[in-house]
Amino acid sequence: MPTDIPKSSVDRSHLEISYRLSPDDCVLEVDPGWSGFAQSNSAPGLDPNSVIGRPVWDFISGVEVRAIYQRLFDEVRSTQKARSVAFRCDSPGEIRNMSLTIEPLPFGQLAIASSLVERLGREPVELLEAGTARSDEMVSLCSWCKRVESADGEWLEIEQSPWPRSEGLLPRVSHGICPNCEGTIASELGHLAPDSSD
Ligand SMILES: [Zn+2]
Repeated sequence: MPTDIPKSSVDRSHLEISYRLSPDDCVLEVDPGWSGFAQSNSAPGLDPNSVIGRPVWDFISGVEVRAIYQRLFDEVRSTQKARSVAFRCDSPGEIRNMSLTIEPLPFGQLAIASSLVERLGREPVELLEAGTARSDEMVSLCSWCKRVESADGEWLEIEQSPWPRSEGLLPRVSHGICPNCEGTIASELGHLAPDSSD
């Protein structure tokens, strides 16, 4: 049963981050939380100074996830209106409900910030442990809600998913998006929905 962790009792600096992107999506500026962001997106060990000037796409895992970010960025640039979307940035022992806000800046730049909405403690989820040996099996993890796709194509809460194990090893994780989250974001984006005929 998840338990509330008071927000005030924890170090939020590695969760609440912001960065600024150029019109062609290169990183212009980051705050000190960047290394936490890189870590949660499977690109650990990046010094904030070494990311300046690089495409943000180098730090976002998963083709579908990048496609969603691209659509959000396009939407914010074309409408000049800020957008917020909910996502989760869990650690093994915590559910972290986050909010991502993308704001338009002059000359096609974007200001992007993630903020912590709520964190809940839980029994550690092995699948999210870094540095453990993995088999060649893959499971798809939704980057937004952290549901895991089961062998029969159902998306289950990560706490409840029986992931495949070969020789006792955990599978590798690939970052994707589940149909629920895709539908939510597509409806937010309206005309930029996947079926749009442009
Ligand atoms: Zn999802």
